[in-house]
Order: sequence, then structure tokens, then C-alpha cells
Amino acid sequence: MTNPATGAQLAEVPDSGATEAQAAIEAASAALPGWAATPAPQRAMVLRRVAAMMLEQQERLATIMTLEQGKPLAEARGEIAYAASFFSWFAGEAERIYGQTIPATVANKRLLLLRQAVGVVALITPWNFPSAMLARKLAAALAAGCTTVCKPAEQTPLSALELGKIVEQAGAPAGVVNIVTCRDPQPFADTIFTDPRVRKVSFTGSTEVGKILIRRSAETVKRVSLELGGNAPFIIFDDADLDAAIAGAISSKFRNAGQTCVCANRIFVQRGIYAQFAERFAAQVRNLRVGNGLEPGVQIGPLIDRAAHDKVQQHVAEASAQGAQIIVGGGAAIPDSLFWTPTVLTDVTAEMLVAREETFGPVAPLIPFEHEADALRMANATDYGLAAYFYTRDVSRVFRVAEGLEYGIIGANDALPSTAQAPFGGVKQSGIGREGGPQGIDEYLDVKYVSLGV
Ligand code: ADP
Repeated sequence: MTNPATGAQLAEVPDSGATEAQAAIEAASAALPGWAATPAPQRAMVLRRVAAMMLEQQERLATIMTLEQGKPLAEARGEIAYAASFFSWFAGEAERIYGQTIPATVANKRLLLLRQAVGVVALITPWNFPSAMLARKLAAALAAGCTTVCKPAEQTPLSALELGKIVEQAGAPAGVVNIVTCRDPQPFADTIFTDPRVRKVSFTGSTEVGKILIRRSAETVKRVSLELGGNAPFIIFDDADLDAAIAGAISSKFRNAGQTCVCANRIFVQRGIYAQFAERFAAQVRNLRVGNGLEPGVQIGPLIDRAAHDKVQQHVAEASAQGAQIIVGGGAAIPDSLFWTPTVLTDVTAEMLVAREETFGPVAPLIPFEHEADALRMANATDYGLAAYFYTRDVSRVFRVAEGLEYGIIGANDALPSTAQAPFGGVKQSGIGREGGPQGIDEYLDVKYVSLGV
């Protein structure tokens, strides 16, 4: 595998196939009874140790992440802290896996609900947040008492392997976490989907692959949690605090070079402030520093690979051909590299590719709108429903728009709403289930009903 900033070979990792996937399922199955029966406070202690160890090793882990993924080191440090926070949060949740009793209609029965670990779960993660995407799933699964078979993305296996080592050092017994690295996900997928012992698959990645996984889950009726693509609207009303809206749009759009499933993909600006917003926003985007994420002060790293670079190029070229103006950037930052210059497009229409599909790159399309109802209609005119953002100082509008947006996560005057304490997930074709928050652990628990005759 290679460093996307330099193209240099970084490390060699095993290219596993069906045999290794099978061995991982065996190990997870063997470890399941012991881990599920471990008292919750003891599981919680392991999770707390993981969080502490991640923070102790933050610099080393962040450096590995920047080397394999490309994001600026400051963002990688932030991601390690964010990933660690899921282990802290779910340590607490492990201790609160409460059951329930329900009043019966007859005197000689007691109705009890138990919440128990789902069993062996498969966790499939993408390359854009190599540590956090695994941590969100793994911390919840381990807190619930599940054992795991994890498959990181082929581009970024190292952060997952490091996290696996830490979980083991923190006291998780052998077999509780199994990590399978591979270049081709197909043999892995064939193995987990046909094995009835794998009771659940949790996946973060593209909607296209998510749909395949839903179909495949029918083979042995597995539970699925899916965090899929987005097409986030970022709406700025003319009564917004413009400084806050500009800062928010920059961080939402350009974090991780725009390779974030919740990042602003369409920036809607009300007509009265459109020109002013475009000018001030563009001035700040022009100053963003592009380069190797290990260099101090760099804000935009490389795109992950050639396919990602080609997609950004195609989106910008198509918008430009359809009449959009490129007011900043618009091309590769360094020839023959994966660096793309942060780009701002004006005069964008809803029909252009940049507005219809997730660009997953540092390109900000600015789309004008007249009225609140127009903004809501355009924002909802997509099959996706992950995150949406809006800026306004009108408190009534905050409620109207938050209720009207067909999205799972809403940032109202907040460009970075994601946190371990709150449920993260989408509606429509952006996914099924929630990660984090009080709901996150339910994804890894089955409810068992016991009717007791007395
Ligand atoms: P992205 O577009 O972010 O690369 P993908 O959906 O292609 O997203 O990949 C996300 C994860 O899903 C990666 O770990 C990848 O290896 C895995 N993956 C891709 N295709 C399949 C598949 N058919 N079955 C199971 N996992 C897959």
C-alpha cells in the first residue's frame, strides 16, 4: 500500500482471502460465550483502557493515519481523540444495558425483557476515517458483548491494525477482535455472508455497495447497520451570522479535503447575500494551504487515489461546461499528483453533477435561492438523507427548517455536529441504524422476551 501524498510504498499487509476470513469467524465464535458472559463493568474497563491508550499514543497513531490516508496531521490527531471518545462513551453504555419488566394482563405471569449480545458481527469500514469509522462500530459491539471480524478498506489498513493491537493490549481476550486485510473484498464478503454464525454486518461506505450488502444479508437473514453516502445541503439564509456561516462552510466542505460523507456537497445561499458570501468565502478558500499532511500548517492533503481525483476533475469540468464559473482553483495543485486545488464554483444549478452526486473532494458549488421554501425543496430533492446544515438567526426558522429537512443529522448554526454522545446516521438511501449516542448500542443487542409463569 502507498502514501497518497508521495506515491511511495508505505507498508505491506497480508492480502487475505476466504481461508483467513473463515479463521477469523472461527476465532470470534470461540471467543463469543466468554466475552458475552464477562460482567459489563469488566468489559467497560477494557474499553476505558483502550480510550486512555489511544490518547497516550495519539501522536504516533495520528502520524500513521496521515501517512496512509493523507489528511493533515492536526485532523488526524483530532480523529484519534474522536475515535477514543467512542470507547469512553460505550464503556458507560456497557454498564447501562438495562432490561425491562412489563405489567402482565394476568396475575400469574411476569413479562421480562433481556438485552443480549447479537453474537459475532462483521464490521466493514472505509478509508476516509480509518480509525473513527472502526471505533464507532467496535466500541459499541464490544460494549454489548459481541465479538468481531473487521475488514478495513484496502487503502487504509494500518490504523485498523494499530487499533486492534491496542484493544488486545487493553485486555480483550484473543478472538474478540479479528482484523482481516485484503485487496479484494469479494472473498471476505462471500465468507461472512454465507456463514450463519455471523449475525450482523455493520458497514460504512458507498450507497452502491450498501445495497449489495442488504441483498446479500438475505442469504442467512443477518441484521444490518449501514452508513452510506450523502449529498449534504449547507443553507445560508440572509439573516445568518455571515462570519460564522463562512467559517462553518469552510470546515464542513474542506475537512479531509472534502472526503467526508457528511461534508457540505451543495452550498445554498440566499440571493440577497449571495455575492457578498461568494466573495468572502472565496477569499478564505484561496488561502487554504495544500500539501503533504505531515508538514505543519497544511490544511488540504491529497485525494485518496486516482479514481477520486478523476471524479473531482469530471465534476468540475461538467459544471464548467454547463455554465458554472470557477472563481477559485479548478485544477490539479501539482501535476501528476493526487492534490487538487480547493475550488469554488458559482452559478451552479441543481442539474449539474456537482449538485446531484457526492463529489468527495475540495469543491464548493454555490447555488442561489430566493425563499426558505425553495431552499427546503432543493435541499430535499435527493435520494440521500445523511447530514444537512443551515445558518440563520431566526429561532422560528430554526425549528421549521430542522423539521422540514429530510436528513438524519442536522447542524443548525453548527458545521460539526458529530459527537460520540449523539446518534449518527441517515434516512432515505443514506442508511439504516445509528452509531453513537444512547441508540448506538442497540445495534448490537437483541431483545429477548421471557414470559415467566408464577
Ligand atoms: P468508498 O467509495 O468509500 O471506497 P466502498 O463502498 O467502495 O466505499 O468501500 C467501503 C468498504 O466496503 C471497503 O472496506 C471496501 O473494501 C468494502 N467493500 C467494497 N465492495 C464490497 C463488497 N462487494 N462486499 C463487501 N465489502 C465491500
